[in-house]
Amino acid sequence: MTDSSGSPGGGIVVVGGGISGVTTAVEAAEAGHDVYLLEKEPYLGGRVVRLNEYFPKLCPPTCGLEINFRRIKQNPRIRVFTQAEVASIEGTPGDYTVTVELAPRFVNDRCTGCGECVEACPEERADDFNYGMSKTKAIYLPHDMAYPFHYAVDAAACPGESCSRCLAYCKYDAIDLREQPRTMTLSVGSVVVATGWKPYDATRMENLGFGRLPDVFVCIAQAGRQLRHMRQRRAAEAAQLPV
Ligand SMILES: Cc1cc2nc3c(=O)[nH]c(=O)nc-3n(C[C@H](O)[C@H](O)[C@H](O)COP(=O)(O)OP(=O)(O)OC[C@H]3O[C@@H](n4cnc5c(N)ncnc54)[C@H](O)[C@@H]3O)c2cc1C
Ligand code: SF4
Ligand code: SF4
Repeated sequence: MTDSSGSPGGGIVVVGGGISGVTTAVEAAEAGHDVYLLEKEPYLGGRVVRLNEYFPKLCPPTCGLEINFRRIKQNPRIRVFTQAEVASIEGTPGDYTVTVELAPRFVNDRCTGCGECVEACPEERADDFNYGMSKTKAIYLPHDMAYPFHYAVDAAACPGESCSRCLAYCKYDAIDLREQPRTMTLSVGSVVVATGWKPYDATRMENLGFGRLPDVFVCIAQAGRQLRHMRQRRAAEAAQLPV
C-alpha cells in the first residue's frame, strides 16, 4: 500500500524519535510547521527512556518525556509514525520527497494496553528495550510508559496465524496478524536527521571480561534499569538456595 501526503515548502520530516527528534518535532509544530516524526522502534524516547534516575534531578526520564508526549498529543500538526524508516530522500532544500517504509505492528490504535493477550501468548523474545537481559512474550508492551501506549507483535518470535491464540483474548479487536508493510511518500521542505547514538560494543574489550564475567557492566546498564532488573533476578535466585 502507498500513501502520499504533505506539501513542498512547509512540512518537516524528523527522522528519529529520541529526545532530540521529539524536541525538534514539538518546537517546530508549535512554531506552526506540519511535522512527520519517524521512529524505527515501536515507541518514542530513544536511549533516554531506557535510562534511570536522570541527571540533573535524578528523576525517571519518563517525567520529562511525558510532558513532551502530551505536547505531541495536543498538537494536530505532529503526526507520529513508529516502526518507520526512510527508504529514500530526493529533491533539494525546500522541496524534498521522502519515501518511508512502515513495518507492521500487528496491533492497531484500538489497543487499550489491558495486557490480556500476554496471558495467551506461548512464545517469548529477548527484550531489546532491556538490552536483551530479560524476556517478553511475542506480543508485548515495549515498556511501562510506552508512547504510543499500544502493544506490538514481534514478527520474528510469532508464528502468525497458525497460532492466533491472542485474538480470542482481545476484546477490542486490536490485533491484526495479517497486517502488511506499507510505503508512504511525503513531500516536505526540510528533513531533520536525529538518529542518535549506539553504545560501544564492550565485548570487543576482551581483557575487561564484559559479557563473560558476572558483575562487569557498561555504564549504560549501570545508568539504566537493566542493573536493577539483574539485582532482582539474582535476589530471586538466591532465595531458591537451600539453607
Ligand atoms: C550512560 C549514559 C548516561 C546518560 N545520562 C544522562 C543523564 O543523566 N542526563 C542527560 O541529560 N543525558 C544523559 N545521557 C545522554 C543522553 O542519553 C543523550 O543525550 C540522548 O540519548 C540523545 O538523544 P538523541 O535523541 O539524540 O538520540 P537517541 O536517544 O539515540 O535517539 C535516537 C532515536 O532515533 C531512532 N533511530 C535511529 N535510527 C533511525 C532510523 N534510521 N530511522 C528512524 N529512527 C531511527 C532510534 O531508535 C532512537 O529512538 C546519558 C548517556 C549515557 C551514555
Ligand atoms: S492487543 Fe488487545 S488484549 Fe492485548 S493489550 Fe491491546 S487491547 Fe488488550
Ligand atoms: S499469534 Fe503470535 S502474538 Fe498471538 S499468541 Fe500466538 S505467538 Fe503470541
